[in-house]
Amino acid sequence: MNRLIFDEEHDLFRDQVRRFMQEEIEPNVEAWREAGICDKDAFRKAGEQGYLFMWADEQYGGLGLKDFRFEQIVTEEGIRHGDISLFLTLHSRLVGPYIGELGSEALKQRLIPQCISGEAILGVAMTEPGAGSDVAGIKTRAIQDGDDWIINGSKTYISNGINGTHFVVAARTVPDKPHGLGLFVVEADMEGFKRGRNLDKMGLKAQDTAELFFEDVRVPAENVLGDPTRGFYNLMHFLAEERLINAVQGIAHAQTAFDLTKAYILERKAFGRPIAAFQNSRFKMAEMRTQLDITQTFVDQLVLLHNAGALSAELAAEAKLQATETESRVMDDCVQLHGGAGYMSEYRISHMFTDARISRIYAGSSEIMKEIIARGMGLDERELLKR
Ligand SMILES: Cc1cc2nc3c(=O)[nH]c(=O)nc-3n(C[C@H](O)[C@H](O)[C@H](O)COP(=O)(O)OP(=O)(O)OC[C@H]3O[C@@H](n4cnc5c(N)ncnc54)[C@H](O)[C@@H]3O)c2cc1C
Repeated sequence: MNRLIFDEEHDLFRDQVRRFMQEEIEPNVEAWREAGICDKDAFRKAGEQGYLFMWADEQYGGLGLKDFRFEQIVTEEGIRHGDISLFLTLHSRLVGPYIGELGSEALKQRLIPQCISGEAILGVAMTEPGAGSDVAGIKTRAIQDGDDWIINGSKTYISNGINGTHFVVAARTVPDKPHGLGLFVVEADMEGFKRGRNLDKMGLKAQDTAELFFEDVRVPAENVLGDPTRGFYNLMHFLAEERLINAVQGIAHAQTAFDLTKAYILERKAFGRPIAAFQNSRFKMAEMRTQLDITQTFVDQLVLLHNAGALSAELAAEAKLQATETESRVMDDCVQLHGGAGYMSEYRISHMFTDARISRIYAGSSEIMKEIIARGMGLDERELLKR
């Protein structure tokens, strides 16, 4: 399908990014998967090319490129010619805007140049052992001490948790209010900050996911993001972009699996004919093609809406739900069409299948997406039960 949202400038950018991914990322992916973590140098190399924090204003050394399509291209090419585990976009567009929009001027001047070069690597730490979908259940505490804040508690399942140098941490600032949270930038070299081990996972093998611990970590006023009692609402605001990113990733991942499966079934033979010649294979491919085109069209439309400042939480939730559920179904069909080879680690599809499984869970599960969409149309359970 010809995607009409890109112009010549985007096409030229895509060619450059593709070459970068093919030359600098793809050759390392297998080693990173075995090591359970990607090399920090990947961030520095992407930074050298200007692919990190592209949105940052020129005064901080950025390109001032607010157009989300450029980030979409980095994500799509990174997945096709690299690996979905390399979270450049988490650094740049999922966590970065918290600093760009809510950070103090001193923090922005100090941190953004390091984020652009890839010297600093970002993560966001909301989830705790007892609070995942239920963000209001966060127990990590932040208590004011003069101008500083003292943080105590722990987080789990944090992406870029080992490579990360700076984390946006959600902590409770108002004890008796479920939504009384603040957001703070905790730096890895602050006293009292500790990382747990790199958690062993079913998929995303090159992604470092870790526990983080905070013991009397003293955070200066400069590192407070926005109003320290309105962190919950700020999280909800930035989660819309996060979910659009997940949708872009999910559909790019599914499209890549589709393409490599098509090549495989044209090559592999059974009963004296290519696997592609069986009606079931052709119909499965036709079904997937249709789902991919419908979903891509919707996601692309939301990218334009986001550029226009009109992406709602409900539309972002629809995109995440649709793209990640499609991703999972496509991965399953693609493994099936590969037969036994699809279960073998040497075939990329086998790990794409396990990598994809998290998309329907993290950044808000499919069930939470349905809650958001239903509430948006006036079907809020809490209100309905009062009737
Ligand atoms: C690889 C990986 C990377 C991650 N990266 C990060 C990160 O960088 N930062 C971060 O903060 N977190 C991160 N997470 C955490 C992730 O966002 C949470 O795991 C996710 O939000 C789900 O929370 P939970 O695991 O506590 O599941 P739970 O909340 O315990 O949910 C369990 C099940 O119950 C369902 N459920 C929960 N509430 C409802 C409801 N109201 N209605 C219907 N069903 C419901 C869920 O959909 C799910 O199916 C990551 C997780 C993984 C596995």
